[in-house]
Amino acid sequence: MRGERFLSSLNDGRSIWLEGKQVRNIPEHAAFKGTLNTIKNLFNMLDDPGERDKVGYLVADKGHYAHSSFLVPYTQEELAKRNQSFSCWSAETNGMMSRLSDYARSMITGWYAARHQLAALDPHFAHKISSYYEAARDNDLFLTTAIIDPQIDRSSDLDDKRISERFLHVVRETSEGIVVRGAKMIATGAPYTHDFVIFSFLQFQTQHQKHAHVLIVPANSPGLHIVCRESFADERERNHPLSAKYDEMDAVLFFDDVLIPWERVLLYGDPEKVLALRANQTANGLAFHQNVVRFVAKLEFVTGIAFAVAESIGATGFLHIQEKLGELLTQIDVIKALIIAAETKAVPDESGVLVPDLSYIETARSLGTKYYPRAIEILQQVGAGGFVQTPSGIEDFYGPISELMHLYFEGASVSAEKKVELFKLAWDLIGSPLGARHLLYERFYAGDPIRGLANQYNRFDKKSLTNPIWNLLKETSKGGLTVI
Ligand SMILES: Cc1cc2nc3c(=O)[nH]c(=O)nc-3n(C[C@H](O)[C@H](O)[C@H](O)COP(=O)(O)OP(=O)(O)OC[C@H]3O[C@@H](n4cnc5c(N)ncnc54)[C@H](O)[C@@H]3O)c2cc1C
Repeated sequence: MRGERFLSSLNDGRSIWLEGKQVRNIPEHAAFKGTLNTIKNLFNMLDDPGERDKVGYLVADKGHYAHSSFLVPYTQEELAKRNQSFSCWSAETNGMMSRLSDYARSMITGWYAARHQLAALDPHFAHKISSYYEAARDNDLFLTTAIIDPQIDRSSDLDDKRISERFLHVVRETSEGIVVRGAKMIATGAPYTHDFVIFSFLQFQTQHQKHAHVLIVPANSPGLHIVCRESFADERERNHPLSAKYDEMDAVLFFDDVLIPWERVLLYGDPEKVLALRANQTANGLAFHQNVVRFVAKLEFVTGIAFAVAESIGATGFLHIQEKLGELLTQIDVIKALIIAAETKAVPDESGVLVPDLSYIETARSLGTKYYPRAIEILQQVGAGGFVQTPSGIEDFYGPISELMHLYFEGASVSAEKKVELFKLAWDLIGSPLGARHLLYERFYAGDPIRGLANQYNRFDKKSLTNPIWNLLKETSKGGLTVI
């Protein structure tokens, strides 16, 4: 089964650091076990004849199933199939696992699909991306991205040695490839990824060629260190149902002179070309589509919990609670509508690949940075102090005070034990370290939301909106207006 193969592939000599120690047996480590079990089950869906069509497609010339994030969509049906695979894995994980590799795989698929247009950037690009795409697809490679440079001094730039030495850069070229040094942050899923998709994010100036790159880096590359944040995993599933199985570990990557073979150097040395690849509409359209489909599952999950909490304490009849629960429903509808719009308005790129409309997807991603914090705020307002009025462990229901527990924790419509379980689930979302991480994730995973919205404004054809205004004023002021 692919899930078991995935787990056993992870003990490959990679250097993972957690709490000052190197992790030796990742599938068995308490920080990763629950999450890896979740991923194992998702991977195994592709081997189950009753499930595999929901998440995969038959690779025509190979005769085996691959995840649909590798499917290049030329028709609306194929685009719908990609959506279905994202929805399926998201629903299985309640939208809580955003980097199940289907995002990074979609980016690789997009670059592969657009390889003929992108050949102008580098004559070897098409061959390199084709061979990597096929290897990733046929070997079920788990991928993640790491693009942001370390947060040292955001007011400074590459002319400052403190920055240039620490941002990822090439220290030498050899006949085998390039040797890189520096760091990247953040890579979600890093400890259990097979390969990192690494690229420079900022718009570097021409003289900073050594910092401009698009690379595929195996996680077990000698010299690469994966430095994990504190683990939020908790094996007590009934007390922390989300932390028990959905802690996607985030990590910083240290590159201590890592050799990247030429075959995996997709671009290097030209900031303009790297930027052109990063901005490729086909890859971004396919990859960002996954982000917003996954987000619907998460909004539905939060909304379901908020409804259940309101019911469990008899609060559904209050007008202000109804208004807030209604607001959660409008969030879901807006994101769903934007996905429908993006898919319906998908247009073929130069190679005939059907690319979801990026402007609707960008709008959904921007709204998500505001919707999720608001959804969590609503959940807090609905359950109020109930979230901290739960016992430390479900075990109290089975101890000497069991009778009192059943008496005092009873809900309006549910048993005491079910109500405590529900509030513990909700707390894992709003108050646990995992919950706090999710709030940060939804605010920032798509980049800085402030600059994201500002870019949306900057890129917009403003005249389409301002010309009617100036024309109206021209009419009312009888031609006395000068428009610059
Ligand atoms: C939980 C989590 C998981 C993540 N996973 C991944 C991942 O898997 N892969 C990946 O590549 N990235 C990942 N990211 C990183 C994410 O892309 C970045 O956090 C995001 O791009 C913001 O960058 P930053 O964190 O470096 O913030 P900074 O850029 O350092 O921003 C800090 C503050 O300064 C402000 N600021 C900084 N520079 C400017 C400027 N020039 N003009 C105006 N304001 C400025 C920002 O608005 C912000 O308020 C993840 C982030 C989080 C929180």
